[in-house]
Amino acid sequence: MSRVYNFSAGPAVLPLEVLQNAQADLVDYKGCGMSVMEMSHRGKDYDAIHQEAIATFKELCGLGDDWSVCFIQGGASMQFAMIPMNFLGAGQSADYANQGTWSNKALKQAQMIGNVNVVANCQKDIPTRMPANDEFKWTAGAAYSHICTNETISGAELKVIPDSGSPLIGDMSSDILSCERDYSKFTMFYAGAQKNLGPSGMAVVAIRKEFAEKGSTSIPTMLQYRTYVDENSLYNTPPTWGIYIFGETMKWVKKMGKENLFKLNAEKAKKIYDVIDGSGFYRGTALKEYRSNMNVTWRLPTEELEAQFIKEATAAGMKSLKGHRSVGGIRASIYNAFPMAGVDCLVDFMKEFEKKNG
Ligand SMILES: *Cc1c(COP(=O)(O)O)cnc(C)c1O
Repeated sequence: MSRVYNFSAGPAVLPLEVLQNAQADLVDYKGCGMSVMEMSHRGKDYDAIHQEAIATFKELCGLGDDWSVCFIQGGASMQFAMIPMNFLGAGQSADYANQGTWSNKALKQAQMIGNVNVVANCQKDIPTRMPANDEFKWTAGAAYSHICTNETISGAELKVIPDSGSPLIGDMSSDILSCERDYSKFTMFYAGAQKNLGPSGMAVVAIRKEFAEKGSTSIPTMLQYRTYVDENSLYNTPPTWGIYIFGETMKWVKKMGKENLFKLNAEKAKKIYDVIDGSGFYRGTALKEYRSNMNVTWRLPTEELEAQFIKEATAAGMKSLKGHRSVGGIRASIYNAFPMAGVDCLVDFMKEFEKKNG
């Protein structure tokens, strides 16, 4: 077996143990005589998988009975549209923080539906950053407010969840369950599964049931949150394989111990940031106080050196380190499942590369 160190921003590395267990169960899932992919979503074998996945996620996030966890296809991007379709009615307005590429995409979708107030704007700032807590200009009476907790492309992360004064919705696609968060501050949060939760193809959406009930009833059934809440995401055929891998990944998080995992995540990021800070060669892309522990971004003195860095790292078994074209440079995405050994390998490589080229 020759697994590389996969620094991809998404779809991203999954726990090896999860992949191996899925492989063992692929053809005959625990004596059912068929794969999870082949079984009815109405049968008792699949039902157990579905319920356990939801229960484990709720336990990890500390969500009570007033919350529903839904599996919705179309990724996080579909949520950008569904949120205003459900909750931004005529005569209302919603608050959006414009913090980077992803939150900008979210607010643009909302602007197609209704009135949006941009409550903070640092989308194009270099160094990349997040709004300071006192920078948000929240609107009294907003239908809801939307933030992104971690901007995957810029490598900036919100360290403190703000009090918006209206139902708070968070795009947590790239840092969900990666650090200590008070999820009770939110009315709804969601994540495209392919970064910290499982395979691509769906968003995991946690929503307070009473909020879902307030959504529009004049949009198609499949776009209403209440459909997913009322039918436990089984109104139509859900992405069963993705939900199964998500459930296995949540079990892995639970087994690792989330506190251990959170600590490990901080240590992994610190190792890379320490090399950046200890060198005159590498330059962090994000302001220090907003540095992401999931997506570490930095520049080299020239674009030629960046290209050479990526080429040599790839040859050494470290894949997908190229930064997003909008910010350039290098990006190391080191989600929950990314191993410490891969970070050590990168850090050694960075020091060696600086010695040779600095
Ligand atoms: C990746 C990402 C998205 C888009 O997710 P899709 O599932 O591809 O739609 C949205 N927001 C953030 C913060 C992301 O990292």
